[in-house]
Amino acid sequence: MVTYAAVFFLVVSFVLGAVWGSFLNVCIYRIPLGKSVIFPGSHCTACGTPIKWYDNIPIISYLILQGHCRACGAYFSARYAGIELLTAILFLLLWLRYPAQPLVVAQWIIACLLIVATFTDVDHFIIPDSISLGGCSFALVASGLLGSSSLCAMDFEFWKGFLDFGFKATISSSLIGQHLAIFLWSALGAAFGWGLLSAVALFGRYVFAKEAMGGGDVKLFAFIGGYFGMTGVLAVLFLSAVVGAIVGVSILLWHKFFCRDEIDEVEFRRDRAKFPPYAEIHPERVSVIPELDLSSSTEVDKNRVIRVARRTSRQLHHFPYGPYIAFAAMLMLFFYPELHEWLREHLWLISEPSWQ
Ligand SMILES: [Zn+2]
Repeated sequence: MVTYAAVFFLVVSFVLGAVWGSFLNVCIYRIPLGKSVIFPGSHCTACGTPIKWYDNIPIISYLILQGHCRACGAYFSARYAGIELLTAILFLLLWLRYPAQPLVVAQWIIACLLIVATFTDVDHFIIPDSISLGGCSFALVASGLLGSSSLCAMDFEFWKGFLDFGFKATISSSLIGQHLAIFLWSALGAAFGWGLLSAVALFGRYVFAKEAMGGGDVKLFAFIGGYFGMTGVLAVLFLSAVVGAIVGVSILLWHKFFCRDEIDEVEFRRDRAKFPPYAEIHPERVSVIPELDLSSSTEVDKNRVIRVARRTSRQLHHFPYGPYIAFAAMLMLFFYPELHEWLREHLWLISEPSWQ
């Protein structure tokens, strides 16, 4: 039975999400540039005109102005409205999933942090410390405050049943003890996420001799460990790797069959007797074909055209790992209780939470 109150709170969630989405756009644009996210207020990035309040209504203003600045007509990416809509929908769905629970506020904030991490990583290949480490601090505080109703508490219960450690008697008797235990469990989760991913990064560096995992990803996992606990770290690591592999292979196959590598054709003339200083102009492109030493003034005996791969499929689709982590964590925001239920069933660990 749908009541007016239920509909009211759904609308409020959606509107709140859209407004926060608008602020997230500012964060995504300004944090990597080292600018304040508060001052100055929203202004057109092309002409600098401050945006009036009635032109700054999430989603709606974009549709009315059809993505253009009212003052100078500059075009803004549809992504701005897209992020507002995405945040609005996520807020609404999270409210539906955890209606009227204090937990939902924490879930909203985590969703916001994950959205910013995703798009700064896409734009600049960075996840700002204010998001990853700030998120980790928030996760510790939120877990401690929410106590037994936090997602971290589910993880605590799970491992307590699994390892059968003797917190039960002491903690369940005292409320402060409960909150303290979850706070400590959250800190342990953060340390686990940081430690595990540092190990993965080191392993990748020595075995594959390349930077598979950046420092930003490691800090993001500390944040995830702090919010979800150790099971969350393992689940997000597994899920992000699976999704990343599926998307990566699909993109490479798509490119192989439907796209072509971008090639520069460079003509070397005999009368000039030397290669043009192509390597000096584009040193980053020349490295693609190491067998051709274009940097030296090699003599050539006839005119010929050499094709230099400007951007290959691999380079075109060099994609950061952060968005996959954020996507996996976003799924955990919704399905973490189900994951724990599934694990309990399949690990034959039927233990009742001792606090409820
Ligand atoms: Zn403008």
